[in-house]
Amino acid sequence: METTLRGVGVSHGVAIGEVRHMGTAVLEPPAKQIPAEEAEREQGRARQAVEAVAADLNARGNLAGGEAQAVLEAQAMIAQDPELIADVDRRIAVGSTAERGIYDAFSHYRELLAGAGEYMAGRVADLDDVRNRIVARLLGVPMPGVPDSDEPYVLIARDLAPADTALLDPTLVLGFVTEEGGPTSHSAILARALGVPAVVALPGACELAEGAVVAVDGSTGEIFVSPSAEKQAELEKQAEERKAALAASTGPGATSDGHKVPLLANVGGPSDVPAAVEAGAEGVGLFRTEFLFLDDSQKAPSEEKQVEAYRQVLEAFPEGRVVVRVLDAGADKPLDFLTPADEPNPALGVRGLRTLLDHPEVLRTQLTALAKAAEGLPVYLEVMAPMVADRLDAKAFADACRAAGLQAKFGAMVEIPSAALRARSILQEVEFLSLGTNDLAQYTFAADRQVGAVSRLQDPWQPALLDLVSLSAEAARAEGKSCGVCGEAASDPVLACVLTGLGVTSLSMGAASIPYVRATLAKYTLAQCERAAAAARAADSADEARAAAQAVLSGE
Ligand code: PEP
Ligand code: MG
Repeated sequence: METTLRGVGVSHGVAIGEVRHMGTAVLEPPAKQIPAEEAEREQGRARQAVEAVAADLNARGNLAGGEAQAVLEAQAMIAQDPELIADVDRRIAVGSTAERGIYDAFSHYRELLAGAGEYMAGRVADLDDVRNRIVARLLGVPMPGVPDSDEPYVLIARDLAPADTALLDPTLVLGFVTEEGGPTSHSAILARALGVPAVVALPGACELAEGAVVAVDGSTGEIFVSPSAEKQAELEKQAEERKAALAASTGPGATSDGHKVPLLANVGGPSDVPAAVEAGAEGVGLFRTEFLFLDDSQKAPSEEKQVEAYRQVLEAFPEGRVVVRVLDAGADKPLDFLTPADEPNPALGVRGLRTLLDHPEVLRTQLTALAKAAEGLPVYLEVMAPMVADRLDAKAFADACRAAGLQAKFGAMVEIPSAALRARSILQEVEFLSLGTNDLAQYTFAADRQVGAVSRLQDPWQPALLDLVSLSAEAARAEGKSCGVCGEAASDPVLACVLTGLGVTSLSMGAASIPYVRATLAKYTLAQCERAAAAARAADSADEARAAAQAVLSGE
């Protein structure tokens, strides 16, 4: 019998296929004692396994490129953490086997992380994944992860570790569904980068029967279990229609009556550029430069290395706009050499611009590298700071840009409610705003973006979030300046129309979403978008807002 489940759609498209579960067996090695003379050999085995897993993660990263590469390299670094390795050695010296030593040392570290607050949830999943890989190698059993199958399938997992998401083969993995994770979790961002339909935060996903047929609608978040032949045909028809509309949509982003809304790409480095160019991005709306900093947890990349990476991205958009965000370290993106280790609540601590103002030399090097990278290029360079709280922050950033001799527009991200509430005051210091709706939702609703249980509050359709978008856009209009959106909200085609109706001036998203947003925006006039925006803001919940906007746009 057909049943329908609902999660959060995070990557567009429809996938119909058989369920295959992720290999998640928790491998707990037996707690057996070894004689002292075997300790050295076991320590050697443990180290070899750690090195092999780190090399494998790095190789997967090289294969995947882009944001995925940075995430996998960060995981490889977890595997090689000197303190963890020292702990493993200690445990083996007092009688553990290599596999048990790894298992126990990682479990101990896991407890420390889990006790450090909910924000660590994402890192705990990474840590478990690394541990399982090392233990599997030592035991000589298959690696946990994506199932071995020659037939295409729908992948089901509790949460996808970055190492697996990066290796999903779009020709075999028709789509994926996870029980955990929110719409702005890094797994969701990676899924969109891959371009496979995905639904996250689906309660009961792990109980779906292996081999059952499901239809996944990554746009609506619906999963149809054992869909009837009619339902399958209907979904396939809808998917075909969407594809045809996509193929027909080219050119700059605009409403049907010609109101221009530039569609820009979110990139993590030069390797994301080809997909952005192919999708017809009119520039880059968010260059997440922190991915360049993940190679070495002890120091910033050299100025030369930064110049090289920035130049490659800038050169790809001659005459286009490229918005570079300076380093956003801390909270879900900690860096050992910058992020304080002892904060009780890092999402509310020294992160983003606060970190850079505490380490002016890091900001200076980054801005100088950007100035050098842009020299002689016709590109419109814009540089923005993450996590700007108030006018003082905005001034400190603009001063640093001027001091570095940067010929660019300076901007502030609106990710903290105070910045939206006082946007006009911030605009006295900078020339544009960019709404980071992922963090803005997190801070507006006190809902950690890594935690699946609060994904309802992370929904960018929340009317309170739309109110803050509207305040920011209004302020920019009043000041004659621009206000874009670069959070994941921009990648939802209907929400993109609502954001346009709220007065947002550009939309930036993962490259795979650009054709969907372009095609949907082209169907409606600016006045329709404005009416949809008003209807959404008048609602009392995200679901009602979504339905109200849909109703206006479909003329009901
Ligand atoms: C955001 O917070 O919306 C954003 C674009 O930044 P990030 O997702 O990198 O924190
Ligand atoms: Mg952010």
